Amino acid sequence: MSAAAAEGKPPAPGTEAVGEMVREATAWCALHGLVVGDRADPRSGTVPGVGLVHAPFSLLPMHLPESCWRQACELAPIFNELVDRVSLDGDFLQDSLSKTKQVDDFTSRLLEIHRKMMEINKEENIRLGLHRSDYMLDSETGSLLQIELNTISASFPGLGSLVSELHRSLINQYGKLFCLDSKRIPGNAASSRFAEALSRAWHEFNVDSAVIMMIVQPEERNMYDQYWLAKHLKESHGITTIRKTLSEVEAEGHVLPDGTLVVDGRTVSVVYFRAGYTPNDYPSEAEWTARLLMEQSSAVKCPSISYHLVGTKKIQQELAKPNILERFLENKEQIAKICKCFAGLWSLDDEEIVKSAIQNPELFVLKPQREGGGNNIYGLDVRETLIKLQKEGGDALAAYILMQRIFPKASLANLVRGGACHEALTISELGIYGAYLRNKDKVVMNDQSGYLMRTKVSSSNEGGVASGFAVLDSLYLT
Ligand code: ADP
Ligand code: MG
Ligand code: MG
Repeated sequence: MSAAAAEGKPPAPGTEAVGEMVREATAWCALHGLVVGDRADPRSGTVPGVGLVHAPFSLLPMHLPESCWRQACELAPIFNELVDRVSLDGDFLQDSLSKTKQVDDFTSRLLEIHRKMMEINKEENIRLGLHRSDYMLDSETGSLLQIELNTISASFPGLGSLVSELHRSLINQYGKLFCLDSKRIPGNAASSRFAEALSRAWHEFNVDSAVIMMIVQPEERNMYDQYWLAKHLKESHGITTIRKTLSEVEAEGHVLPDGTLVVDGRTVSVVYFRAGYTPNDYPSEAEWTARLLMEQSSAVKCPSISYHLVGTKKIQQELAKPNILERFLENKEQIAKICKCFAGLWSLDDEEIVKSAIQNPELFVLKPQREGGGNNIYGLDVRETLIKLQKEGGDALAAYILMQRIFPKASLANLVRGGACHEALTISELGIYGAYLRNKDKVVMNDQSGYLMRTKVSSSNEGGVASGFAVLDSLYLT
């Protein structure tokens, strides 16, 4: 046993063994497609195969108690079902977001599409959800608490599976040095499971010539994560995926009188959104027109506008209020399991909580209705922002929710970026993928579908990998 392992510490980056491991690992990434576009190359977000760099990763998997792992896995099908039930209650979504709508243009546009669908009684018989529920382990209480539930564009099913494989391979080769056993890394089939869910939705749609359409951003350095799904769809299921931006859909798409969505001359069975979750994805009216067009069509939307809205932070906060879950779920055990993972969540019309957040801002996170990382407010900025919003008056506060800040225990880890390894004090966030597919009364799929661990330096507030805060990781059960 090495001295580092004996002390329960990760190996120090300077040592020869670690240098060799890093080279092995980065070569493995290149050989297995664990890659992202390199910011340094201007074409890396638009031209596949040009300007690649290994995805940032942690050299060894993060430790996690097996009980937490089981708890998170058990929650996946329950959250899948909950999202579906809530999505069917259009009035609940509209009412819960009515104040937010007054002050947040983006949410207001989404709600407008949703309202239009309610007005025409639009029914979505085939409903596909590809979600990721994210958690942190609160050090003080030892509880696993939900950070958020992503119902649109949940990223890294493709690369996340590969990180688990990378870690298994490194531990098989070097594990003895650190007393690690690769069998303690749970299997992670996120990319094949998500592809299977998409393919089953394609089958339910039942048009042999139809394609799956992935909605993408015009520039996307995380394109290989997406190409992994397209590869599984082609190779394991014989289904073609086309990639279109929202503005391309506007230019090339139309809906036939029977509801069929046709884009670039091809019938679309499933629209899988890997864009459309941020206002930046809608620089003009054209993108909104495209979103509405797709929603009006009979294609399966992953997510539908309702599923998208269920994933907003405001709805997360509303669902955490007493007796709300009971409106959507009957099973008391399931309700208890969900409640157990809810952190403190508050609407800002609660004056007491706003007062205490101004007094102790470090205990809270202030969240707007945004996705994709980099939008939340922490620390002293919480106080400043709340005071400013209070002064503005009106409904300004309604654009945000307050959340209890979770403090996971920090531990040392080796983070590898651009071929260089740095040791840092880190905290991790566990994401559990869930796939849900139903056709009318028939639940075709409702599964936990793999996981994603993200690790970041403990001093950083935000956690996204694409936004540059965190690295990809996997987990080691203890
Ligand atoms: P987004 O939809 O932008 O990913 P999140 O709610 O996941 O928004 O917040 C982004 C990041 O901020 C998370 O990945 C996590 O690192 C951090 N974060 C969010 N909520 C909390 C919280 N309650 N306590 C501690 N950190 C948090
Ligand atoms: Mg998040
Ligand atoms: Mg999110």
